[in-house]
Amino acid sequence: MNTKYVFVTGGVASSLGKGIIAASLAKLLQARGLRVTIQKFDPYLNIDPGTLNPYEHGECYVTEDGAETDLDLGHYERFLGIYTSQANNVTTGRIYNTVISKEREGAYLGKTVQIVPHITDEIKRRMLLLGQTGDYDVIITEVGGTVGDMESQPFVEAMRQLQWELPEEDFLSIHLTLIPYLKAAKELKTKPTQHSVQELQSQGVHPDIIVCRTEKELTPELRKKIALFCNVKPGHVIQSMDAWSIYQVPFNMEKEHMDDLVLNKLEIHGLPEPDLSALSAFLDRLQHPTAEVKIALVGKYVELQDAYKSIQESFVHAGAANCCKVNVVTIQADHLTPENVPEKLAGMDGILVAPGFGSRGLEGKIAAVRYARENGIPFFGICLGMQMAVVEFARNVLGWASAASTEEVPDTTCPVIDLMEEQKKTTLKGGTMRLGAYPCAVQEGTLAWKIYGKPLISERHRHRYELNNRFVAELQAAGLRVSGINPESHLAEIVEIPAHPFFIATQFHPELKSTPERPQPIFVHFVKAALDYKEATQR
Ligand code: GLN
Repeated sequence: MNTKYVFVTGGVASSLGKGIIAASLAKLLQARGLRVTIQKFDPYLNIDPGTLNPYEHGECYVTEDGAETDLDLGHYERFLGIYTSQANNVTTGRIYNTVISKEREGAYLGKTVQIVPHITDEIKRRMLLLGQTGDYDVIITEVGGTVGDMESQPFVEAMRQLQWELPEEDFLSIHLTLIPYLKAAKELKTKPTQHSVQELQSQGVHPDIIVCRTEKELTPELRKKIALFCNVKPGHVIQSMDAWSIYQVPFNMEKEHMDDLVLNKLEIHGLPEPDLSALSAFLDRLQHPTAEVKIALVGKYVELQDAYKSIQESFVHAGAANCCKVNVVTIQADHLTPENVPEKLAGMDGILVAPGFGSRGLEGKIAAVRYARENGIPFFGICLGMQMAVVEFARNVLGWASAASTEEVPDTTCPVIDLMEEQKKTTLKGGTMRLGAYPCAVQEGTLAWKIYGKPLISERHRHRYELNNRFVAELQAAGLRVSGINPESHLAEIVEIPAHPFFIATQFHPELKSTPERPQPIFVHFVKAALDYKEATQR
């Protein structure tokens, strides 16, 4: 069988959940036995989202191979339980960068370099790249942005060309739109969808399936009307109602026979029905919790939900694993002071100090760590959260008043957190952090050992600063145990306080590898510790 290419575009509005629809279709096809991956093409000029403020674009997701990518790749990995890579996320910036570098090398042999064909050729090359590895039966490509935007035109043009260059049964196009409900008229409105499909068709791309985001059921008449005006087969208009969990969407799409429609057009026959039993068991646990905990997420980008997407999702997975509803309460770090911490963190069963960059909110994070440490409240620090846990311990347990990270105080006399030598030479910001998967040796007899249950783990990183090994002996002697170490560089990857009921912090980002079917063990144990704490304090 040839590799099949499915494209997902969006119209009418952004944030309709193209990534979730793409991931849900991928999940259904995978559950029927196909090898599927998803890639995202983003229409902005940044080479990758690594240099974007989380307020601009939500969390920056990091893959095994150290690519800084769009957060939708996190959804792809969580839904499919597979790893993605740099090849799964391409931006306009990366396309232009390649074309311009080739032009400088003289690769175009004197030709005028143009959007068509040179940019579109490079887009097509990358759209087909993963399909050529032989590792996949179906490649789903999500085209970021909204059809009609100037930025996404070259991507749609590349799709148009592929529509004719690929055999008809190897190409499929799905368009996701919004059907708004007008309360005053008590009616669902199809006009924006009609216009969006017209726009797509005017660019030469014909949708095979239209997925309609809607708050209310689409009647058969309405579906027929959309099919008629949008030039698709009746039955190829499907609805995507607002779901109570994103993990419910594959089931909703199955009910709409999305997988059958896709397989028919792609001429893939004879597959078994999808086996979604593991996801279904997860959803069942998620829907019927027997307990509830409140966890504070102390961070600096808390106003934007998507800024800590993977952490939020990890709590959904870990909650279900414990049959426990996890209420994540986001707390703005720079509103916390040593004085107001007891009041602001009152009633929390666990405290997580989030990753982050720059000095804003650091003192608030340190205050939160201290409160958790001194009051025996379950604590979990991630990346910057671990760094602040070390600074707090150095200042308040060892009495090193000037202990700091050089990210906050570059000339501190006590740099417990400092840049690695190789980072000191780096001047460029993009793609130069310690990125991607690194091994970590877990020390026997520690909490980390109990959690992971094995001596060697691998987790993903995204940071420049490290625990300074100069201070490790004294920190350990005072009760801060280094329980995970990189076996090659000997950098500290996990710290914990054995005298505390549950205090653990990691230099890596464990949230990047949690899935509904394989919840991340530190999150699972943290939620359990929060439950125990709640019970013990009888709240
Ligand atoms: N700013 C810190 C560093 O670069 C932490 C990064 C993070 O939390 N991801 O090391």
